[in-house]
Amino acid sequence: MKLMRFGPHGQEFPGIQSADGSWLDCSAFGADWGEAFFANDGLERLKSWLRNHQSACPVVSSETRVAAPIMRPSKLICAGLNYVTHARESGMDIPPEPVLFTKATTSICGPFDDIRIPLVRSQSGVARLAEKTDWEVELAVVIGSECVRVNTDSALNHVAGYMLHNDVSERETQLHRSGQWVKGKSFDTFAPIGPFLATPDEVGDPGNLDLWLKLNGETMQRDNTREMIFSVAQLISYTSWHMRLLPGDVISTGTPFGVGMGLRPERYLQPGDEIELGIEGLGSARQHVVAEADA
Ligand code: ZN
Repeated sequence: MKLMRFGPHGQEFPGIQSADGSWLDCSAFGADWGEAFFANDGLERLKSWLRNHQSACPVVSSETRVAAPIMRPSKLICAGLNYVTHARESGMDIPPEPVLFTKATTSICGPFDDIRIPLVRSQSGVARLAEKTDWEVELAVVIGSECVRVNTDSALNHVAGYMLHNDVSERETQLHRSGQWVKGKSFDTFAPIGPFLATPDEVGDPGNLDLWLKLNGETMQRDNTREMIFSVAQLISYTSWHMRLLPGDVISTGTPFGVGMGLRPERYLQPGDEIELGIEGLGSARQHVVAEADA
């Protein structure tokens, strides 16, 4: 199955992408794709409900906004430096165990929403447009059932599905303004997710998926998830030894080589830029870049 959500910001409704690619409104199912849905065997219940009701689901017009495929989760956890070549381009050591950080869940937006370069404050307090907004194509994993200290061997049994994620990052705030990465990762629109959540049966091996990102038509990132340092199963297990993972929580598994910070000279997003990105089996997304003040 491919879960989607549609509609204006704050008025999203649940749906699916059917096998023929059409978008269907599943509001009549009576639940949105969030923690309670995943916790109560929602994927199985939806599957059997669709057997009898899919033909009666209204088609969603292609003009409708595509929202993030799941409701706002309790946590959006990210792995940093999880590809050898990206750790090198970032000038960082290859981590002996996973680097985890959080993004504020309010940064989540739809896969075709504008990315807004944020207003930031200088150390003297003057507001200006951020200068180092960067892109990161990533495979994101959605947790299907509670995880506390799960083993790597059983970790994939806790997966509800996979999604495409652009872990947008403001490098100055992330790296040069003291403290944790969370500050540069959490601005509004910094987590475009989707177009859909694909269940594990549709994806196959999450450790062998091509992923790519283009900026204004030019390929910036192209790699395969087999190059991850820590596998999806290892990341779920490791995270679950540090916090309780709830159904619907998201773990983003890190980005490969080719971000703007790694280029010489460095290159960052400008208003008017267009990003396209995709992962094998998880569709593609496109984001237009605007300045916060214009939004
Ligand atoms: Zn990232």
